[in-house]
Amino acid sequence: MSGVMLSYVCLCSAFMQSEHGTPLYETMGLEGEISLAVDRLAEWTAPQPVEKTLLTISDKVYIRPEPLGVVLIIGAWNYPWAVTIQPLIGAIAAGNAAVVKPSEVSAHTAKVMEELLPLYLDKELYPVVTGGVQETQELLKQRFDHIFYTGNSTVGKVVMEAASRHLTPVTLELGGKSPCYIDKCCDLAIACRRITWGKFTNCGQTCIAPDYILCNPSIQDRVIEEIRKAVKEFYTDDPKTCADYGRVINARHFKRVMAMMEDSKVALGGENEESQCYIAPTVLRDVKAEAKVMQEEIFGPLLPIVPVSGVDEAIHFIKEREKPLTLYVFSSDNKLIQRLIAETSSGGVLANDCLVQYSVSALPFGGVGNSGIGTYHGKHTFDRLSHLKSCLVKSLAMESLNKMRYPPHTAEKLGWARFFILKQVNVSHLGWLAKMALLAIIAAVVLQRVLW
Ligand code: NAD
Repeated sequence: MSGVMLSYVCLCSAFMQSEHGTPLYETMGLEGEISLAVDRLAEWTAPQPVEKTLLTISDKVYIRPEPLGVVLIIGAWNYPWAVTIQPLIGAIAAGNAAVVKPSEVSAHTAKVMEELLPLYLDKELYPVVTGGVQETQELLKQRFDHIFYTGNSTVGKVVMEAASRHLTPVTLELGGKSPCYIDKCCDLAIACRRITWGKFTNCGQTCIAPDYILCNPSIQDRVIEEIRKAVKEFYTDDPKTCADYGRVINARHFKRVMAMMEDSKVALGGENEESQCYIAPTVLRDVKAEAKVMQEEIFGPLLPIVPVSGVDEAIHFIKEREKPLTLYVFSSDNKLIQRLIAETSSGGVLANDCLVQYSVSALPFGGVGNSGIGTYHGKHTFDRLSHLKSCLVKSLAMESLNKMRYPPHTAEKLGWARFFILKQVNVSHLGWLAKMALLAIIAAVVLQRVLW
């Protein structure tokens, strides 16, 4: 895939993102992933020697990645290039063929992808299948070697059920409610600026957007005030006319998000216009755990603040719910950050910032529990879409050493087997001459004392 294609993508993907937003949030990351895969391919595909033991001292012991076969990639609409092409990069690097199914909800992107990919990739090996639920379900009836799905948890279960018919492994990149705990001990102006960016980018339709804030009631007013300032700084006094502020994807999602506000108090924003699917950046205050907005992933520009007395209650609140994709914490207290990392479970944790964890290729990206199965990005995608074949190549020599495992079994042979199997010694740091010498000594002792 060339830079030309990625530039064209930027022009065609601006359905709800701004002209410069699409390269920043979608295609730049893809360029980085492609460069990484090209640079590291030889290293990733090379056989990886593993640690040797006394038992395998003279053998070849290594992992050899091999392609899985044909991967089905089902993408979502919110970052339609990033979530569809990124797994494709890893699939290609790992030597697989792939069927690409972009989301029908981002219809323009699906059309452009269908037109562009065959210009740059072999269309027999990487066909693009467009269409909606029916077409996706038809694809799911076929046998694939891996299914890589990005989308909501309900459809994730449909995908997994279909995959189980052929024992096909799945990667499920799902979403959920990612909490954001703000500690009293932090620079609230900086924290709220970063949270405002993380939440309202792409109109809140980001799988790793902070879904809700947990903080002490004593800082709630300041948090609202700082978010108000940041919204004005990023999107002006009138976000509706600001090119960098997006729209909710369609009327169905507009109605869904609006209905979530019904039983909560609006502290900031709330303005909306159905004909444009516009909802202003909105903050809800003193939100109760039972409120509608707290019952499912928001995936829109609403930011509820749920008051908690402190970190103990925040941890309790998080642990009572499904495991989130990301946990955000803002604090200057490293001990508190470490406590949240240690005492909660989530796909990942990001302290003192938002969203940027997605751009770190070295970190495995994915959920846990209800927020997903399997991780990807960088080499993690390559590994995810490879079979890591374990290879042990022995010679036919040294047969006498094997006598300890052959019948007739005796107590003495068992003792030697125990020594070789359980008392393993890491000999990987020894040179081959030293290993051979060690092997010869052991063989001589064993043969002399036990086996003959
Ligand atoms: P969507 O509606 O575009 O659906 C995703 C795909 O599933 C589409 O290709 C669609 O054809 C298919 N599909 C939909 N219903 C189906 C059904 N009944 N049977 C078979 N296939 C079906 O996307 P969405 O689910 O609205 O996406 C939003 C969700 O995705 C959010 O929960 C978000 O958090 C999550 N998400 C996660 C990540 C991640 O990397 N973890 C990234 C983006 C979005």
